[in-house]
Amino acid sequence: MDYEEMRAWMEQMRKANSLLLISHVSPDGDTIGSVLGLRLALLQMGKKVQIVCDGTIPDSMDYLSGHDAYLTADQVELDYDTAVAVDVSSPEMMGESLPLFERAEHRVVVDHHATNPAYGEVNWIRRGESACCQLIYDGIRALDIELTKEMATCILTGLSTDTGHFQYAATNYHNMESAADLVRHGADISYISRRMYRSQPMRRVEMTKIVYRKMHFECDGQIGAVELEKKNFDETGCSFGETDGLVNLALEIEGVRFAYLLSERENGIKVSLRAVEPDTVNDVALQFGGGGHAQAAGCTLHTTLEEASTLIFNALKAKLG
Ligand code: 5GP
Ligand code: MN
Repeated sequence: MDYEEMRAWMEQMRKANSLLLISHVSPDGDTIGSVLGLRLALLQMGKKVQIVCDGTIPDSMDYLSGHDAYLTADQVELDYDTAVAVDVSSPEMMGESLPLFERAEHRVVVDHHATNPAYGEVNWIRRGESACCQLIYDGIRALDIELTKEMATCILTGLSTDTGHFQYAATNYHNMESAADLVRHGADISYISRRMYRSQPMRRVEMTKIVYRKMHFECDGQIGAVELEKKNFDETGCSFGETDGLVNLALEIEGVRFAYLLSERENGIKVSLRAVEPDTVNDVALQFGGGGHAQAAGCTLHTTLEEASTLIFNALKAKLG
């Protein structure tokens, strides 16, 4: 287990006076829930806390306490002594927040990605854990902080989203026990799951139609692929964050072992990779300078949409064996 790393993390949390918590680009439920839950815990400890994210916090998470406290990189006051990268698999995933991390006197990483190279001074990384929120829960419990309903709601949100609502292969009994404790402390699992999975803006429905229309299958249906053009985002009004999870639509089809969804963005082609266990995709993401989890990973390619699709297709095809 990671007790030594956790202890070093706790010591730094206790020692710090002023902290900057950093979420990753294209923020999801886990990086947001982890940062917001940790923020509330540190505020309870009497610390000064700022939070930053290079990316828009989806409207669906507006029920999380502190969602409106996120700053953009240029709004951050430079008086913090400790920066904490939360659920950030590699430094580049901080986007414009990276210089703010690098300039901190103490740099801390809390993460669960298998590919994390441990780029902090204090690194609490539990590789293969299903969600970063699990570490935040364990940290809050170990620090003897009073677990409030607001904290529990943030943490259960990330635990839910990164486990596919307790369905993915990495989901473990500790996640289920922690979820039970979070519910005991006031987190409303029905409300959270409605906001996360059973309600979506019409623009995402429009994008879903496009995704199904564009979906194609290769290698006897073992690879499912979707290439989204910039104009698809313009015509639907869907933000990049709002397409989170759409890659799974291709993975959920019988016979599919690998799925990828490409999004054409200003700064390159964002690649979302998924596999059905025991197949893996983090090796493919690493090959292209990205990273992630065994069955959910990503990278950005600086090519055309068509070239990116060929590169990813060939890499996945090579894995079919
Ligand atoms: P998604 O496909 O949902 O954007 O990302 C899946 C997982 O891979 C997430 O845990 C995310 O943090 C990680 N990931 C996605 N893109 C990149 C990337 O470009 N670099 C690294 N290191 N990790 C990534
Ligand atoms: Mn995560």
